[in-house]
Amino acid sequence: MKVSVVKEAAPGERRVALVPEAVVKLRATGLELLVETQAGAGAWVNDEAYAETGASVVSKAEALSADVVVMVGKPDAAMVAALRPGQVVIGMLSPLADRDLARSLAGAGVTALSMDMIPRTLPRAQPMDALSSQANIAGYKAAVIGAAEYGRFFPLLITAAGTARPAKVLVLGTGVAGLQAIGTARRLGAVVSAYDVRPETRTEAESVGATFIELTSVGPASGEGGYARALTDEERAAQQDELAGHIARHDVVITTAQVPGRRPPLLVTDDALKEMAAGSVIVDMGASPLGGNAAGSVPGKTVVTEGGVTIIGAAGLPSTMPAAASAMYARNLSALLLYLVKDGELAFDPADELQAGVIITRDGKVVHPALAEEGAARELPGAAG
Ligand code: NAD
Repeated sequence: MKVSVVKEAAPGERRVALVPEAVVKLRATGLELLVETQAGAGAWVNDEAYAETGASVVSKAEALSADVVVMVGKPDAAMVAALRPGQVVIGMLSPLADRDLARSLAGAGVTALSMDMIPRTLPRAQPMDALSSQANIAGYKAAVIGAAEYGRFFPLLITAAGTARPAKVLVLGTGVAGLQAIGTARRLGAVVSAYDVRPETRTEAESVGATFIELTSVGPASGEGGYARALTDEERAAQQDELAGHIARHDVVITTAQVPGRRPPLLVTDDALKEMAAGSVIVDMGASPLGGNAAGSVPGKTVVTEGGVTIIGAAGLPSTMPAAASAMYARNLSALLLYLVKDGELAFDPADELQAGVIITRDGKVVHPALAEEGAARELPGAAG
């Protein structure tokens, strides 16, 4: 069975789905590996490094003709048009946010597996959890960016030229990315506070060195599967008001809050921004075209408010650490492939909970249960966080 790695086409995407180490592991199981020329260039892996593993370095057309095509992101329209019925595509397809892609892959007769749909709470799925591996990278990088942009020190410094107090960092949202941001900011010497609507995250945040902030105006908002639920309008307004006071007391605010299938919740309002001191920095990991966790954040851009607050729209952070992100994603992806391959072929078993979670389309149909449901609550546009 031929497995190919394609060069990512999305603007700014520097990751590659398999690094040479993963190619070696997969070839050892009898799979034939093809790598599109220059596929690893953005992550500083050259064609020779793949060729040395025994993989064939091939044209785009040849890569697209393999039995299984693996990638980091989603196939674009040109790629979907080039695929033939019966082929398998594996990538982070965000099918809940992009149902049209799932429909077009089904229409093309392609079997699609989405790495961002791995059932994360299944212990056997943990080595395949690409959302966590990439969120860890993003959380680390968000803290580093915050430190780089802040015009003062993160650690306490005592020098002959004076003493610098440590920076006060606030992390909003303490999932995988938030916990990594806390740990990284702490390692850089900052004093870190954290807040999440899921109270069960308190011990995790404290274990990596943060002081947990509890809001009195909003109750617990834990949802299904370890995620948060969306807040009601009243809860959201109360949360924003109470958070504003905490935000104003911090120098750097890193926001990571997400609710599955919805636009990111707004945590830092215009009013909160006005109360922040000039020179403060916000790193908004929720920045998206639909709006982010901070008012006025623009994905991929840095804006400075009239009051001197720098807002960094920190979207796509894993791609800014392409070598680490590719190595981790490649481990997640090869774990899934090794799980699925029996006697050199992919053997699908829809009765397996893990497979039912990742298989989006098969035999010309959209088969994932979450996509079959016509639940308006999971639609992104119009859903207020
Ligand atoms: P996420 O990216 O969906 O959200 C990030 C954080 O934002 C979450 O902690 C969420 O509670 C918080 N949030 C949402 N709305 C908020 C609001 N209005 N105000 C403040 N915070 C808000 O989450 P994630 O990092 O993908 O992780 C979600 C959960 O899944 C975590 O509990 C994590 O431990 C769990 N998880 C479990 C496993 C496992 O069991 N193996 C693996 C991975 C993740």
